Amino acid sequence: MIHTRRLFDENSHLFDFTATVLSVDPAEDGNLSVVLDATAFFPEGGGQSPDTGTLGGCSVIDVQERDGVIYHTVKTEAPFLAVGDPVVGHLDREVRLRKMQNHSGEHIISGIVHRLYGYTNVGFHLGCGDVTLDFDGVLTRQQLNAIEDEANRIIAACLPVKAYYPAPEVLATLTYRAKLDLTENVRMVEIGQEEDMMDRCACCAPHVDNTGEIGIIKLLDFIHYKGGVRIHMLCGLDALEDYRRRYTDVALLASRLSVKQSELVTGFDRLAAEIEAQKQTIFELRQTILTMTLSSLPETEGSLCLFEETGDANAMRRLLNQAVPKCKKLCGVFSGDDENGYRYFIGRGDASIDLKQYNKEISAALNAKGGGSSEMLQGRAAAAKTQIEAYFKTFS
Ligand SMILES: [Zn+2]
Repeated sequence: MIHTRRLFDENSHLFDFTATVLSVDPAEDGNLSVVLDATAFFPEGGGQSPDTGTLGGCSVIDVQERDGVIYHTVKTEAPFLAVGDPVVGHLDREVRLRKMQNHSGEHIISGIVHRLYGYTNVGFHLGCGDVTLDFDGVLTRQQLNAIEDEANRIIAACLPVKAYYPAPEVLATLTYRAKLDLTENVRMVEIGQEEDMMDRCACCAPHVDNTGEIGIIKLLDFIHYKGGVRIHMLCGLDALEDYRRRYTDVALLASRLSVKQSELVTGFDRLAAEIEAQKQTIFELRQTILTMTLSSLPETEGSLCLFEETGDANAMRRLLNQAVPKCKKLCGVFSGDDENGYRYFIGRGDASIDLKQYNKEISAALNAKGGGSSEMLQGRAAAAKTQIEAYFKTFS
C-alpha cells in the first residue's frame, strides 16, 4: 500500500482536512480500520499518544503507523465509508495543541540539559496532564530552577520552530540530538536559528511554529531514577490548569486556616503544633483516668480483664504492669473491637503461675494466635469482648 501523506509534517496547525478513503477493513470490537491517501492525525509514537477527533463524523479512537501507512481506528455502529469516498477529518484541536506545547517544551528542556550538562534524554512520556523526562545524569533542584529560567527565556524570545527533512548531504553536516542512528528520511526539528539556535533534534512529531505558543514551562517534582533523574513537567495550557487547581487548593486551605495565602506554611505549622500539644494533653488525661481506674479497682483473689483504647503497645504494657499487683491469677489487657479482633498482653498476679501452660488454652478459648514467656503472653484474639470477659471470669 502506498505511504500515507503526512499532512501534520507539512502543517502542524492543520486541524481540519479532507482526504480520500483508500481502504476500509473491520477492526477489533466491530470498529473500522481506515486508510486515507493523506491525514492530519498523528499516529502513536515517540512517547506521544495518537491524535483523537472524528472522521466522517465518527470518533477516531486510535491511530497507528505500520511501514509508512497510517491506520485510523474509527468507532462506528455500521460501515459508512467506501473506498474512493472523500471524507472530512477533524482533530481534537485543544488536545493536539497541548501535546505540541508539551512536546516542544520537552525539546527545549532536553536541549538545555544537553547543552549545559551533556546529559541525554533517555525516556519521554507525554500523558494527559503529566509529562515525564528521564535524563542519564543527576540534576539538583537549583540546577532545575536555572534550566526552567532558561527555558522560559526561550519561550519569551518567541523563536521560530522549524521541522524539515534535510537532504542526505546536508544531514551529514548537521549536529543534532537523536534517539536512533538514522541516516535517511530523518526529520529535523530546530528551535531558533543561526546564533539563536537553541536545539536541533531528530523527531517525527508535530510541534508549535513558534516557542511563544508554549506559553510557560514548569518543572514539577523530580526523583533519582536509574542513575539519573526523572522530571515531571507541564507546559502551556496543562501548566495553567495545574496552577488553577493548586491556586484553588491554596485559597481554600488559607481560608480554612484563616491566614493569608502567603502565610500558609506558618499557619499550618501553628495548627500542627496545636495538634501536638492536644495529643500531649490527651496522653496526660488518659494517664490520669488510668490511675483513677486502677485505684478504684478492688484487689481480687481471681483474675482481671481490662480494655485499653489506644492499641498502643507501650500504653497496654504500662497498664498491665500497674494492674498485675491487683490480682492473684491472670491479668489481661486487650485493645481492639469485636469486628477486627483484639491485641492482648497477659500477665500473672502470682509468680508461681507459669503462663506458658495457659497459652494453648487461651488460643482455643479466644481463637487467638500468640505466645510468650512464663511471665507474659501476647498476641491477637479473634473473639468478642463478652467472650474474653467470660473467659477471665473462669479464673475467679
Ligand atoms: Zn520529539
